[in-house]
Amino acid sequence: MSAVLRDLRRVRFDALPPLSLYVHLPWCVRKCPYCDFNSHERAGELPEAEYVAALLRDVEGLLPQVWGRRIRSIFIGGGTPSLFSAKSMDALLAGVRSRLQVEPEAEITMEANPGTAEAGRFRGYRDAGVNRLSLGVQSFDDAMLAALGRIHSADEARRAIELALATFGNVNIDLMYGLPGQALATARADIEEGIRFGTPHLSAYQLTLEPNTVFYARPPALPGEDACADMQQMAEEALGAAGFEHYETSAFARAGHRCRHNLNYWRFGDYLGVGAGAHGKLSFADRVTRHERIKQPREYLAADGTVAPREIAPKELPFEFMLNAARLVEGFPIELFCAHTGLQALALEPGLRKAEEKQLLVRAGRGVRPTERGRRFLNDLVALFLPAAE
Ligand code: SF4
Repeated sequence: MSAVLRDLRRVRFDALPPLSLYVHLPWCVRKCPYCDFNSHERAGELPEAEYVAALLRDVEGLLPQVWGRRIRSIFIGGGTPSLFSAKSMDALLAGVRSRLQVEPEAEITMEANPGTAEAGRFRGYRDAGVNRLSLGVQSFDDAMLAALGRIHSADEARRAIELALATFGNVNIDLMYGLPGQALATARADIEEGIRFGTPHLSAYQLTLEPNTVFYARPPALPGEDACADMQQMAEEALGAAGFEHYETSAFARAGHRCRHNLNYWRFGDYLGVGAGAHGKLSFADRVTRHERIKQPREYLAADGTVAPREIAPKELPFEFMLNAARLVEGFPIELFCAHTGLQALALEPGLRKAEEKQLLVRAGRGVRPTERGRRFLNDLVALFLPAAE
């Protein structure tokens, strides 16, 4: 290996990236046929207290790796975290606060299913410290919700949004397009109804067929690629006209309401991941590592929580960085690459050149931004940063 290459592959941090915490609660009422998340159908009572204790043990095991670092945001995802009681959420967040330095202004998001929304519960979550709620609405069309195997109706989704807005104010709703048999007009109706609720954040995802799902094994008839591109464009235009900023492939926010936690992922920040199947990423002075947890909740509960982390090879860091940062609609300054990978800017250069040639991204001064073509062919763009075979 040449001296230049060796130097380009040296990781060195003067200051570490911001740090977040992800907590995974892996149970759902029923498994949706399109879902490839680590979610498991609930069978009987959930072992809430036992699981919270396991999560806190997991946090404790990670403490030596993050001494002195502060947590900027927490995201409680799943699964369906709203299956847990407010009391369990309080025990979890109090336990996290007593072990980690959580910033007083930290954004604390929890995911909730409209089928589990209830006023007392929502108030309890808020009192426990949750200050942002993310609702998996997906559609306001009962036929589409049935096709997706969702446990809630459109009216339940509407009530849950009202309740979430009244309780938290800071609310995201997830909507999906490209649904079985969906036409552009139905997708538009969903986006327009979503906008009318006035939530400060809205995410619009295209339904994709993921391996190891029921839909993958028995695919429903989905709209074609061009129809989905039209739906994406419709959503961007409608949300833009309504005053939302499109800041990531699927994320739209009113001014001041971008999701800080997800932005930290997309900027390749650090995060602790605790809970069954959770992933984390941590930087140290001379290396970047990933950690991951056992997926099966039962095994996670029985394990001692520690799984050996693995170092990300420096030559993989440009690809790993772009996998996230290329999703940012406004792009990123090249300094962010250096600050969050510990590498020199030159390490990103070969991929940047290739992507520019293919008109997948543009550079302006020190800034790098995906073009519209780059956003549409995101996988092709990111693949240009894969480490070259040696
Ligand atoms: S509710 Fe969410 S996490 Fe649970 S199975 Fe459905 S899509 Fe997956």
